[in-house]
Amino acid sequence: MIDLRSDTVTKPSPAMREAMATAEVGDDVFGEDPTVNRLQETAARLLGKEAALFVPSGTMANQLAVRLHTRPGDEIIVEAGAHVVRYESGAAAGLSGVQTCWLQGTRGILTVEQIEAAIRPPDYHNPPTTLICLENTHNRGGGTIYPLDPIKAIRKAAEPRGIAMHLDGARLFNAVVATGIPASEYARHFETVSFCLSKGLGAPVGSLICADRERITKLRRLRKMFGGGMRQAGILAAAGLYALDHNIARLAEDHVHAKTLAATLAGLPGLRINPDHVETNIVVFDIGETRRTADEALAALKAEGLLLVPFSPTTLRAVTHLDVSRGQIEQACAILKKVFAA
Ligand SMILES: *Cc1c(COP(=O)(O)O)cnc(C)c1O
Repeated sequence: MIDLRSDTVTKPSPAMREAMATAEVGDDVFGEDPTVNRLQETAARLLGKEAALFVPSGTMANQLAVRLHTRPGDEIIVEAGAHVVRYESGAAAGLSGVQTCWLQGTRGILTVEQIEAAIRPPDYHNPPTTLICLENTHNRGGGTIYPLDPIKAIRKAAEPRGIAMHLDGARLFNAVVATGIPASEYARHFETVSFCLSKGLGAPVGSLICADRERITKLRRLRKMFGGGMRQAGILAAAGLYALDHNIARLAEDHVHAKTLAATLAGLPGLRINPDHVETNIVVFDIGETRRTADEALAALKAEGLLLVPFSPTTLRAVTHLDVSRGQIEQACAILKKVFAA
């Protein structure tokens, strides 16, 4: 089976497992796990922030940020397809008591004009807007890279109004590798930035949230409250350190593989995809004109040995990652041709 359902399906390599097996550990709730501390320092340095906190999942990182920056009854501005509102089980409402204002972006990207129009004027009838969350790269947008210009413009609108900004950078390093823009250059426009180790970077578990020292101290307390305090987590942190050392630059291969898939798909009858919109490791394409439902197409692909996921009743998503080789991508292209040329 060639598994392109998600970059979360990657498994730790033998070398990564060796790093985990030999990791020095301590009790991280006491702040005494040297490997966790090293991972947090490394992450903070990479993102140009004072400090970082290791958390079990990207969902927890996002929800800690929502909790940190808001009070119950506040409103947060998000893009309609954002992970923080689409895939986190209602946590912003459930755990932080905030309401969300959803704006429809262009492939996930919002303009400052849209955001300014959505910020609530200071009138006590209104919920105060206290947080803007952006996602880079944008998953439902199709792995879209957030350009720096709108980020800077949104920052300029948010800052004088005292509105915080959080970046869901689950796949931030895909954007970094694709553009050559350092992670710190993206991160400096946000109070808090999270990124995942468990996606294309290939670690089995974990995310980091990066911020200034004062905010990390508050986040550490909130992490305990959310049940995310871990003990000898150095075993997991070692995988993360290995991933940051070995698996960032190679994301470029995944981007080439995604382009290869996009070029093949663009040549097949009834499929709609713009290969220029494939900027990183995510490929979303529409099969509406083939008169097959997403579920029927997925079953036909699976029967040939290729796994994708449905993104809507007529769209499918493929994600490239470090556990699929060039040869497997060529095989995947052959399967797509066989299934969709028919
Ligand atoms: C995967 C992902 C997350 C975090 O997911 P977890 O499964 O909770 O680690 C957050 N944001 C985006 C955009 C993601 O793709």
